[in-house]
Amino acid sequence: MSHDCLFCKIIAGTIPANRVYEDEYCIGFPDINPQAPTHLLIIPKQHIASLAKADPEHKPLVGHLMSVATQIARSHKLDNGYRVVVNTGDHGGQTVHHLHLHLLGGRPMAWPPG
Ligand code: 5GP
Repeated sequence: MSHDCLFCKIIAGTIPANRVYEDEYCIGFPDINPQAPTHLLIIPKQHIASLAKADPEHKPLVGHLMSVATQIARSHKLDNGYRVVVNTGDHGGQTVHHLHLHLLGGRPMAWPPG
């Protein structure tokens, strides 16, 4: 846990979030500023600052997060498709420095992103 990390505080329960998913390794909860009808964040319980800071030892965990995204998309009936985004670093638009997947769905998405 990193004491000045917002998402670590959500994991610890000191900042509230509606956990739509939880297991030993990660949690999923709605983004506070949703960009689509479904906009969930999936975060590891272990503090990893970004995808760029993930080491080879984190490979199973990163794979698990992707698999959980698929599972949540199914349970939320995102049958027409969805987008999984991992903003990484300044140019990637990352604002919270704890690895997270955005799961967005419920509307058609444009490409390229801004
Ligand atoms: P990033 O920009 O780092 O890829 O994504 C961080 C996301 O965290 C943003 O979409 C932002 O809306 C969301 N966020 C920031 N603070 C909170 C919070 O306190 N609670 C929740 N649920 N989401 C947050």
